[in-house]
Amino acid sequence: MVIGEKKVVSLNYTLKNAAGEVLDSSVGQAPLNYIHGTQQIVPGLERELTGLEAGNARDVVVKPEDGYGARDPEGVFGVPRAAFPPDAHLEVGQSFIGEDDEGQSVPVRVIELTAEQVMVDANHPLAGETLYFHVEVVEVRDATAEELAHGHAHGEDGHEP
Ligand code: ZN
Repeated sequence: MVIGEKKVVSLNYTLKNAAGEVLDSSVGQAPLNYIHGTQQIVPGLERELTGLEAGNARDVVVKPEDGYGARDPEGVFGVPRAAFPPDAHLEVGQSFIGEDDEGQSVPVRVIELTAEQVMVDANHPLAGETLYFHVEVVEVRDATAEELAHGHAHGEDGHEP
């Protein structure tokens, strides 16, 4: 069975950046399970996996535009400390849901703390990065009606992961 729309794909993967640093990996953990064609993984990787079958391995290079997008300099901005509750515990690296100019909720990360301001970054941590994947297809099967209704793959026992 080959990878295509509405197949559940079980995948071992390692993700490195251009410097060769491992950013993420399924090695030593359960493989990643996802429903193909539903944008659960970055578009550039999903496209390259189409047509592969169990046992296939590939190195896939994903440009930012097919990955997590370009970095937006306007995604970095300061929030006055006064906007936070006085007892808020703030630290660099922390994530929370903020609001943009239009009042939309956006996840942001704290990148710097000054006396007056909390500097945050709304870019995805991997925005602007070229992604170097090594993937091994473990299993390909049809998604069940329940999985398609839920929009995610279930575990081997058929229950929620
Ligand atoms: Zn479910």
